[in-house]
Amino acid sequence: MKEKEYDLIIIGSGFAGLTCAIEARRRNASVLVIEKMARIGGNSIISDGGIAAPDTDLQEIRGITDSPDLMAKDMLEAGGYLNDPDLVRLITNKAKKAFEWTRDILGVPYLDRVDYFGGHSVPRCYSPQGLTGRTMVKAAETYLKKLDIDLLLNTQVIDFIESDGIQDGVIVNTSYRFGQTTTPTYETIRADKAVVIASGGFGHDHVLLKRHGKIDEHTMSTNKKSATGELLEKLARKGAKLIDMDQIQLGPWASLDEKGFGLGPLFGDYVALPYGILVDPNTGKRFVNELGDRKIVADAMLKLKTHALAIADQNAVDRAGWDLHRLMDKGVLKTYPSVQDLAAAYGVDSKILENTLKTYNESVKATSDKAFKKPITDQLPLDEPPYYVMRATPKVHHTMGGVKIDTKGRVLNCENEPIRKLYAIGEVTGGVHGASRLGSCAVTECVVMGLEVARHLTETGHA
Ligand SMILES: Cc1cc2nc3c(=O)[nH]c(=O)nc-3n(C[C@H](O)[C@H](O)[C@H](O)COP(=O)(O)OP(=O)(O)OC[C@H]3O[C@@H](n4cnc5c(N)ncnc54)[C@H](O)[C@@H]3O)c2cc1C
Repeated sequence: MKEKEYDLIIIGSGFAGLTCAIEARRRNASVLVIEKMARIGGNSIISDGGIAAPDTDLQEIRGITDSPDLMAKDMLEAGGYLNDPDLVRLITNKAKKAFEWTRDILGVPYLDRVDYFGGHSVPRCYSPQGLTGRTMVKAAETYLKKLDIDLLLNTQVIDFIESDGIQDGVIVNTSYRFGQTTTPTYETIRADKAVVIASGGFGHDHVLLKRHGKIDEHTMSTNKKSATGELLEKLARKGAKLIDMDQIQLGPWASLDEKGFGLGPLFGDYVALPYGILVDPNTGKRFVNELGDRKIVADAMLKLKTHALAIADQNAVDRAGWDLHRLMDKGVLKTYPSVQDLAAAYGVDSKILENTLKTYNESVKATSDKAFKKPITDQLPLDEPPYYVMRATPKVHHTMGGVKIDTKGRVLNCENEPIRKLYAIGEVTGGVHGASRLGSCAVTECVVMGLEVARHLTETGHA
């Protein structure tokens, strides 16, 4: 077994780990990033990369009034007040700076638009060019190289080491190859200041999903296969407190007709939910406020016991302003020249569906949705063919539970005391999102907490 030593060991190379590594290195700490996969990025690289922040220049030029308090209120409300209010306030207070850090320090190019997702009170979500987390991971990778940050790929952290009860470092298997059986090669790596766990969620860990969320292996997931929670069990054995493990988010805007995250959410989340409607194919009627938070919408969809029809028209597609050709080429999204054709294609009663659209269109004109209280802002009536339809199904998307931390990112034990030299950031932690994470708030969380922990560890010099 060889031994090496760094100021900070960071486990995981998603948004949380990369942010923390770069900021700590910028502040002159020696940093090692350990990643079990052959490439960096985790779930972050396949995400849309959307980040939420209040009071930004992009909101200001559009006349959108927002504040950290309003964003905190939205996150707490969506989270059913299970969230830790101190963590939520920290994140919303620092969200603007975090967004600017990604743009001005990392150099992430953002689209000139501000999106409005369910559960947010105002539009406050910013998308990187290409609408993918890859844009930010690539920018971070360039920075990582520029700062000469050490990175171990294909290396799994298998345990933590401690001396006199203080976490000192990690044991890794440097022969790890995801999905393959290899002969392990163990190394010990010591951390002078801290081990920072940024190992992500467990949205593809069927054992943990079943144990905590009663979610069986047939439920589809948007996550990468590598999103497993092996370190959570190790941490629990070390005495770390795990919270909200049963709070598992299903994304209500995914397509039944493709695996994984796929292309469907571009239509589901960005077009159909804000500008279109969801319809129960059994009744031909709406069944939920499409701009409710993800839990509200997904729970309502699960009650249907079948997929929902996510419906928009040309007006909605134009208003949302996204190019949907790839979805149509893949067969995830279909178009119909009339409501009658749409109804016939899905076995829905045409008259009832026409009536559903008529009632919704009247709500849009009256800027008041009496039936489901969907916020009506800049929507247009759905009366301009073609009609666009996606078969929508909820997929496992985010695990809100994980290790309990304080506002410095320190991992807490069951007595709520920090475990010395052990930190956690990003989706591996619990407490930020409570019962339901709002869209774009995970990236905000990863960047804020990555920056906070880097600052704390380099300013105080120790845990
Ligand atoms: C498809 C998809 C789209 C999304 N879109 C958005 C969005 O637009 N906006 C938003 O806010 N949120 C979004 N989310 C959620 C958000 O992307 C994640 O919560 C966030 O990226 C998690 O970042 P992270 O750094 O905590 O973990 P990850 O990015 O998952 O990184 C964790 C890394 O740790 C590594 N790792 C795990 N265990 C070990 C170990 N034992 N040893 C070594 N390495 C290990 C993993 O391989 C992984 O690379 C999306 C999620 C998905 C799945």
